Amino acid sequence: MVEKHMQQTIQKNLQLVSTAILKAAKAVGRKTENIHLVAVSKKQPRERVIALLQAGHRLYGENRVQEASERWTELRQDYPDVCLHLIGPLQTNKVKEAVALFDLIETVDRPKLAKALAAEMQKQNKILPCFVQVNTGLEEQKSGIVPADLKDFLKFCEEEGLQIKGLMCIPPQDEPAAIHFAFLQKLAQENGLKELSMGMSSDFEKAIPLGATYVRVGTKLFGERS
Ligand SMILES: *Cc1c(COP(=O)(O)O)cnc(C)c1O
Repeated sequence: MVEKHMQQTIQKNLQLVSTAILKAAKAVGRKTENIHLVAVSKKQPRERVIALLQAGHRLYGENRVQEASERWTELRQDYPDVCLHLIGPLQTNKVKEAVALFDLIETVDRPKLAKALAAEMQKQNKILPCFVQVNTGLEEQKSGIVPADLKDFLKFCEEEGLQIKGLMCIPPQDEPAAIHFAFLQKLAQENGLKELSMGMSSDFEKAIPLGATYVRVGTKLFGERS
């Protein structure tokens, strides 16, 4: 059971974020059917996630395989139409579990992982669409393919049989996000990729004019993480 007040809060948050997406899309003449809201449920209390499920939302993002598995294996019994994106770094020893659990991997970021994912998908006979994470800010501590290596990496993924549908980025915290969104959009165009996962609670409205097809929003939907 979800407390009534909690249900109302989450429902209102969903409405606010959806309206903001609509407004940002309208301003640039985009249709919202190509803009998907990934509700980032990592580290959120179960009650809040259930409240959003009850509000009808079905697309979720998690950044850790273990945490996602514990939560969603169970919740999926009640909500079998949930779609789950992996939005955090993936270790190769978790690839098997990740392929079994997720519907889309947003964080393909190195050849070894691409190879392991392709092999595991074949094995499970479950071909997941994937995005390549791009380290647009060239940050040492951040994962992602550096832009200069993207073309070769995409070629490698294709040869391995991975279905790369788009690009994803997390801009540096101390730089204007829009510069990175514009850069990612350009990289996607150059490489003939349709999907762009960019924008979080603080900046998803800026990502929409620059072509985001997936925005990843946690705090604005659920509140602060524990
Ligand atoms: C946590 C996280 C988000 C959501 O962040 P908020 O600021 O809470 O919206 C989005 N993308 C990634 C990759 C994350 O790890």
